[in-house]
Amino acid sequence: MSLRHGRSYLAIPGPSVMPDEVLQAMHRPSPNIYEGDLIELTESIFPDLLHVARCTGKVATYIGNGHAAWEAALSNIANPGDRILLLATGNFGHGWADLAENLGIEVDRLDFGKRSPIDPAQVSDALAKRKDYKAVMTVHVDTATSAKSDISAVRQAMDAAGCDALLLSDCIASLGCDDFRFDDWGVDVMVSACQKGLMTPPGMSFVFFNEKAAQARKTVNRVSTYWDWVPRTDPEFYYQYFCGTAPTNHLYGLRAALDMIKSEGLDHVFERHEVLARAIWAAVDTWAMKGPLQLNIQNPAHRSHAVTGLRIGAPFGTQLREWTEHQAGLTLGIGLGMAAPNDPEWHGFFRMGHMGHVNAQMVLGMLATVDAGLKATGVPHGDGAVSAATQLIASATTAQPLDGQVQTCCG
Ligand SMILES: *Cc1c(COP(=O)(O)O)cnc(C)c1O
Repeated sequence: MSLRHGRSYLAIPGPSVMPDEVLQAMHRPSPNIYEGDLIELTESIFPDLLHVARCTGKVATYIGNGHAAWEAALSNIANPGDRILLLATGNFGHGWADLAENLGIEVDRLDFGKRSPIDPAQVSDALAKRKDYKAVMTVHVDTATSAKSDISAVRQAMDAAGCDALLLSDCIASLGCDDFRFDDWGVDVMVSACQKGLMTPPGMSFVFFNEKAAQARKTVNRVSTYWDWVPRTDPEFYYQYFCGTAPTNHLYGLRAALDMIKSEGLDHVFERHEVLARAIWAAVDTWAMKGPLQLNIQNPAHRSHAVTGLRIGAPFGTQLREWTEHQAGLTLGIGLGMAAPNDPEWHGFFRMGHMGHVNAQMVLGMLATVDAGLKATGVPHGDGAVSAATQLIASATTAQPLDGQVQTCCG
């Protein structure tokens, strides 16, 4: 017997759920890439991307995934032999740093472990020893651990230490989900991609940069033609935006996704993610009252609103994921980087993705499905998790009068 036949739900932290509006916008014949609609549509996208990032600088666009943006960002600001400080809060910072080392960049790594955000005090200590870094590299939300760091506090620690390095931030998991403020927080270069909070199939990525980073670009001896962000942000000809053929149908999809964000309102998008994340935490806190399941990040202030990392103990994580996928049509995320893939402990983790096109009924369905999965696979757990989540959602939606309208009785 299987109960999975119906619309499935991919609740992994990217690619996220793709809205029908985005898929339908992409479903069209190839447009003319020399003149017409596509040119105008492309140029309409940049200001909206900058708005989502709260950035008054520029954004370069690449046909590639997040790794492409990682390499593009570093290629424009660092020479081989330059030194960078990585502040790691999970797998992804190390991935970016490995890539930096392959470009010949020296990397010092300050690792905050798998259950904590960046600690600005430790950043201050590290910068007291050495501050001649070309850049300090951060990940706003590490998708493996679901730790969210205070990027503004990193800049403050750098300022206090007299370190004027570039501040780099990876917002691939957080852009369009968790509030991020490029200008206000003193970020110089930010990388993101389209397949998470921006709700578009994988294939486009972005490097946001300010004037300070544009100046740093001039100190780089050789930037490859392909990664160079200068023609991509200041093209003489349309093809230079992408150093070749535009990602035609992706652009229509991304336009539709940005329109959805615009019509909901960015603050409301963040608020929706926050309430849904709190509903998930309320459920997990209830399950955690009995048995092994617990949130990876203890302090709510340090948790992402887009992805939730969970610890359940081996072999329950894998058993639960297999049950939800094969019995209920719900795909949960694997525990990335929490243990080596050949270590039995690897089976003791999973993640919930709740980024982008996700609403209350989807999250409540996911939580109820996990609740059923815990029962079916025999994992001890506290009772009433779904009810805790529904209670949270009910009170979040009734806390304020709707649009200030007072309903008067006609009695
Ligand atoms: C998904 C993700 C990446 C990698 O993006 P790809 O598109 O898979 O290359 C990097 N950093 C973070 C924080 C991510 O969430």
